[in-house]
Amino acid sequence: MTQSEIGLIGLGTMGAMLALNIAEKGFAIAVWNRTTEVTQRFVANAGDLAPRITATQSLAELVRSLKAPRAIILMVPAGQPVDDQIAALTPLLDEGDMIIDAGNANFRDTNRRAQDAAKGGPQFLGIGVSGGEEGARHGPSIMGGGRAQDWARIEPVLQAIAAKYEGTPCATLMGEAGAGHFVKTVHNGIEYADMQMIAEVYGVMRDGMSMPAAAISGLFDGWNKGPLQSYLIEISAAVTAVVDQKTNRPIVDVILDRAGQKGTGRWTAIEAQHLSAPIPVIEAAVMARNTSARLEERLKGEARFGAAPQTLPEGALMPQDLEAAMIAGKILCYAQGFALISAASDEFGWALPLPEIAKVWREGCIIRSAMLNDMAQALAEEPGRNLIFAPFFADHLEKSHKALRKLVAQAALCGLPLPALASGLAWFDMMRTGRSTANMIQAQRDFFGAHGFERIDGGADHHGPWALQGG
Ligand code: NDP
Repeated sequence: MTQSEIGLIGLGTMGAMLALNIAEKGFAIAVWNRTTEVTQRFVANAGDLAPRITATQSLAELVRSLKAPRAIILMVPAGQPVDDQIAALTPLLDEGDMIIDAGNANFRDTNRRAQDAAKGGPQFLGIGVSGGEEGARHGPSIMGGGRAQDWARIEPVLQAIAAKYEGTPCATLMGEAGAGHFVKTVHNGIEYADMQMIAEVYGVMRDGMSMPAAAISGLFDGWNKGPLQSYLIEISAAVTAVVDQKTNRPIVDVILDRAGQKGTGRWTAIEAQHLSAPIPVIEAAVMARNTSARLEERLKGEARFGAAPQTLPEGALMPQDLEAAMIAGKILCYAQGFALISAASDEFGWALPLPEIAKVWREGCIIRSAMLNDMAQALAEEPGRNLIFAPFFADHLEKSHKALRKLVAQAALCGLPLPALASGLAWFDMMRTGRSTANMIQAQRDFFGAHGFERIDGGADHHGPWALQGG
C-alpha cells in the first residue's frame, strides 16, 4: 500500500474541508471517521482529489497507512472526544509519531496533553484553526502551539493549506503547549464582540431608525469599502440582503433572536478574569448571547415593563455617526483583546508574538479585516503598548469616540441596548480618567475590613479614623 504523508480523524464540517484542502495542495492523506458511512460518502464525493485520499475503516488501518514518523490531525469536538482519540491512538503509535489537535480546545487541556507528551506519550501539537467551513476548504488562519521541532515537521503542510495575505501564509507557531489554542480562544472572543457590535448597530437602525433590512444591507456594504472593511461586515451586508422564500420577508426578520455558542467566548472571559485583564467589550458580548438565550424571560420582561426600544428622534443619529462609532468600538475591543494576550504571555511565560498574531488574523479567519494590518504595524512598533496609545489608533479614537458617545447616549435614552459598545465607551472613559473613584472603594474596604490604603501624599497601609467614629 502507498503510504500517506498525513492522517486526519473526524470528517465533520471542518475535518472534511481540511482534508480536501490538504489533498488539493498535493499531499497524500489518509482519513478515518467514527461513522464509516461518512468516510465512504466523503471519498465518493472527493472528485479529482479522491486518488490522493485513502479511506480507512479502523484506527489501526489509518496508522498503517501513514509514513513514519506519523502525523495525525484530530478534528473532533473539544474535550473528552480528543482525550478518547489520543487514548485510542497511543498504543498504535511509535516513538516520534505526532498527534495534532486542530479543534477548538481549551488551552488548559492542551497544556495537560503537551505535558503527557513530554512524559513519553506521542508528540503533541495544539493548533487553532479559524475560517469556518469555507476557510478550512480554501485557506484558514492557523495558530500553532507546541515544540518548535514538532511544528517544523508539519509546517510545510500547514503553510500550504493556510490562507495567504499578500503571499504570506497565515500559519504561525505562537508558542509552547496551549499558546496556539489560547490565541484561538481570544480570536473567538473578539469574534463574539465584533459580531455583537454589528448586531447592536443593526438594532439601532432596525428599531431606532425604522430602516428596512435592505437599506441596512446597503449601509454595511458601504462600510465594507472603508476602515471597517472586514469579513463580518461583508457577511452582515450579505445576510441583510437575503429574502426568505417562504414569507418573502428579509430572512433576518424571520430568524429567531436566540444566539447559540460553543463556549470559546466564555473561556475568553474566564481567562481574562483569571488574569485581571479588562475585556469588557468581549464580556458584554458573551453576556448578550446568554441573555438572548433567555427568550421566555425577555418576553415576560416586555409584558411587565413595556417594550424597551423606542424610535430615535428624527436626525438624532446619522449613518456616518454609526460608522464612526463602530470604528471606535472596534479599536477598543481589539485593544482589550491584544492586552489580554499580552497579559497571558507574561503570566504563562509564552513570549507571544503580538504583531505576528495580528498578521495571522489578516486573512482566512472570521475576524479578518483591513484594520488588522494597521494593528500588526502598530504592535510591531511597540508590542507592549496598549493599541489605544499607538498614534494611528489614538488619532482614529480622537476622531471617532464622540460618535460612539452620541450613539450610546441616544440609544440609552431610547431603550436600545448596546452592551458591547457602551462598555467599550465606559472603559475608554476610565482609561482617560487620571483621578478615578477607586479612592471610595479603598475607603470602604478599609472601613469594613481594615484593608488599608495608600495616600495621595505618600505612604501605603494607612487606615482611616473609622474605629474612633464607631465603625
Ligand atoms: P462536526 O460536528 O461537524 O463534526 C464532528 C466530527 O467529529 C465528526 O466527524 C464526528 O464523527 C466526530 N466525532 C464526534 N464525536 C466524536 C467522538 N466522541 N469520537 C470520535 N469522533 C467524534 O464538528 P466541526 O467539524 O464543526 O468541529 C470540529 C472541531 O473544529 C471542533 O473542536 C470545533 O469547535 C472546531 N471548529 C469548528 C469550526 C466551525 O466553523 N464549524 C471552526 C473552527 C473550529 P461522526 O461522523 O461519527 O459523528
